[in-house]
Amino acid sequence: MKKTIKDYQLENKKVIIRVDFNVPMKEGIITDDTRIKRAIPTIKYAIENGAKVILLSHLGKVKEESDLQKNDLYPVSIRLQELIEKEVFFSNKTRGKELEEKVSSLKKGEILLIQNTRYEDLIGKKESTCNEELAKYWASLGDIFINDAYGTCHRKHASNVGIANYLPSGIGFLVEEEINKIDGILEEDTHPFVVIMGGAKVHDKIKVIKNLIQKCDLLLIGGGMAYTFLAARNYPIGKSILDEESMEFCKEILNTEEAKIILPVDHLVSGSITSDKVSIKRICDTTELDMGFDIGPQTIQLFKEKLSSAKRVIINGPMGCFENPNYQEGTKEIYQYLTDNHIKTLVGGGDSAASVNQLSNPNKFYHISTGGGATLEYLEGTVLPGISVIDEKK
Ligand code: ADP
Ligand code: MG
Repeated sequence: MKKTIKDYQLENKKVIIRVDFNVPMKEGIITDDTRIKRAIPTIKYAIENGAKVILLSHLGKVKEESDLQKNDLYPVSIRLQELIEKEVFFSNKTRGKELEEKVSSLKKGEILLIQNTRYEDLIGKKESTCNEELAKYWASLGDIFINDAYGTCHRKHASNVGIANYLPSGIGFLVEEEINKIDGILEEDTHPFVVIMGGAKVHDKIKVIKNLIQKCDLLLIGGGMAYTFLAARNYPIGKSILDEESMEFCKEILNTEEAKIILPVDHLVSGSITSDKVSIKRICDTTELDMGFDIGPQTIQLFKEKLSSAKRVIINGPMGCFENPNYQEGTKEIYQYLTDNHIKTLVGGGDSAASVNQLSNPNKFYHISTGGGATLEYLEGTVLPGISVIDEKK
């Protein structure tokens, strides 16, 4: 078990919290502040317990001079200030005297946000290569390090991994919740355990499939990735998305795990994604010009039957191109079935989380994991570097 922020005495301590403020921005305006909101419980806990809080986060990518202004964290400090209803100090510098003075003048309960950690990438990619000197320097600013940036836990950067090597460390509430929820559903001994996979490409998900197929009783495959599996079984797929390089993998796993894998039997097809001329076809009737964009009604029915006795479900990847109103039905119906029947369901993946927000009610799910890449790697069974580096409870 990893130490958490609750395992430390925070009174008058300089607590460095790595948060994920990598929010979407358009011309300096934050277009979605969910990530800032989600970081607040840990920050609040720290200030309520008398800490001097120092926040580190990355924002976007910094490769050249012109990326600096685009990825300025200052607007985030303003938004945080509004949300937390408390003054938030900001250091425009990621190192140096000005920053050090701001740190040493912090009083207990005060918050300082440091400029985008990736400003350190401009010369020599110090943040992204986990530069030792930079990690040591940042560590020298504080007494305790807390990692609450779940979305970057699969990356080994100076601000999340490097720094933890030089300070007593723990995880924040967000990271704690994510790993408890994912471990919880994976380790629970209830069956049938059904995994539903979808999305665009098989390639991104091969390791997830390999790991989860060993644990689950059934694997339902929809979305774009189904076509590579169907092609591997010699079904016609027309012009639907095909991930050629994953064909061999699909053939192999279909051979070894045949009994567990359920593929679509029909789909919604069209000549192009922009056309409104949509028809329902059985997979075996797919013509050369058809492109499949959603699972069809018979597949929805089949998947529901397979889910009817499920005790727990992990779903990763939408069943169709849900961004287009013509192709939302499959994803929506599956979500509805899961929530109506109170089936314990964990949703992972960036687009999957977005599809739940758009088509269903996130509160009706056991957990919506916000990690994207981090969650995928966690589901692959990988130990995330941002978590493994954290001190263990004694
Ligand atoms: P996640 O982010 O949840 O891991 P992915 O990134 O793997 O999910 O997949 C999401 C994308 O898959 C969506 O943008 C969706 O439009 C696309 N997709 C789903 N079904 C199809 C399909 N039949 N053809 C092409 N793209 C699809
Ligand atoms: Mg995605």
